[in-house]
Amino acid sequence: MYAEILTIGDELCRGEIVDTNSSSLAARLWDLDVSVRWMTSCRDDAGDIQDAMRAAAGRADLVVCSGGLGPTEDDLTVDVVCSLVGAEAAVDAHARARWEGRFGASASALQLRQLRVPAGSRVWENPVGAAPGFEVVLGGVPVFCLPGVPRELLGIYEAGLGGRLAELRDARGDAPRIARGIYRVFGRGESQISQACRGLVDGVPGASIHYQIKFPETLVKLVVRDPDQAAAAARLGLLDAELRARLGTALYGDGEETLPQRVARRLRERRFTIATAESCTGGMIGELLTDPPGASAYFQGGAVVYSNEEKQRQLGVSAQTLANEGAVSEACVREMASGARRAFSTDLALAASGIAGPDGGTADKPVGTVWLSLARAGQAGEPAEVVEVKQLSWPGPRDLVRRLAAWWALRLVDLALDERPLASGAGGAS
Ligand code: ATP
Repeated sequence: MYAEILTIGDELCRGEIVDTNSSSLAARLWDLDVSVRWMTSCRDDAGDIQDAMRAAAGRADLVVCSGGLGPTEDDLTVDVVCSLVGAEAAVDAHARARWEGRFGASASALQLRQLRVPAGSRVWENPVGAAPGFEVVLGGVPVFCLPGVPRELLGIYEAGLGGRLAELRDARGDAPRIARGIYRVFGRGESQISQACRGLVDGVPGASIHYQIKFPETLVKLVVRDPDQAAAAARLGLLDAELRARLGTALYGDGEETLPQRVARRLRERRFTIATAESCTGGMIGELLTDPPGASAYFQGGAVVYSNEEKQRQLGVSAQTLANEGAVSEACVREMASGARRAFSTDLALAASGIAGPDGGTADKPVGTVWLSLARAGQAGEPAEVVEVKQLSWPGPRDLVRRLAAWWALRLVDLALDERPLASGAGGAS
């Protein structure tokens, strides 16, 4: 089954906004195993919209459009669809009642404009905005029109449109059942990952493997298609075990949970607190740690310390270490992590110091050299505090060096949580 996505809007064609609707729709259609064969964008021009919609319905089995359903004069989608299917535009009574209930007033003529749909179309209620979506049939092909605002488009999709698209796919009868796995890999490049996975799906009927780089992680996706769902799931189970064995510790998780979400969840579950001391990452580690909601349960605070003076003043890094080893050194990040753990009285503390570039590299410390450390309370048989370190040497552009370093810092926490039943014990107290 082939689909086309048509996004409508002057701002898209002028490059003023990025067309995220196409990518989020394409990802969802891929999840449904509907192949998107064309993605088109056009201006808010009635003739252009008409041509683009006709062409889409002429070559695809399914068309999903976004944009042009608002209240203004340049929102033309309803009128164009009406002229194509020979219908009148009519205000959707349900959308109007919702609008008037929400604002406690009668809708003006302008506001009513965005509540219109082609008469006789199937209406898709917008749970997060005013303009409803709708479904018509153009030349025998189902065409869906959705608002351009991404939150509204996805709201309609999640509220039932996704189910409707799956229903259309199944109605064709030839659609295979799909079993699918998403595997999240960090710390290895795409070529190393594809090398490790080489031949994995060879000879497995209906199986395919896909790689998606979302720097600094890579998603590996396994898909198995079979007319029988149980058979697809069984083959995926076998591939799953083999893939895990091949990727080892580079595979940090699966499904939708990202590394920051995973670390946040695990810190919360273990009731650990954490602090940060950041030089070259400038707060990015703190940002990743506080991205998931509820971060105050585990994140106590962080120090962004660029100058040697602040490393000494806020974290107690010794003048001797800075003089002898320099700020980008194992000794310095050890003292930074210990100092942060002490200053914030946390179970764990992360530190980063490095040369993100493009300038500042030397022969023995080239651009891309980053030292990371994680300080934690020692367990039985260990010193009161254990500080682990990791050195990165990755000569990439500045923003990528910083992002990679911040992710590695989180991965150090994740690995530490894997390996041992970490002792809790605040930095100042143990
Ligand atoms: P509404 O009916 O909710 O007012 P609309 O259907 O009229 O929306 P547009 O007016 O085309 O949609 O776009 C509204 C806003 O939605 C744009 O200013 C833009 O911020 C965002 N938007 C529109 N199309 C896209 C797209 N393809 N990708 C990402 N954002 C988009």
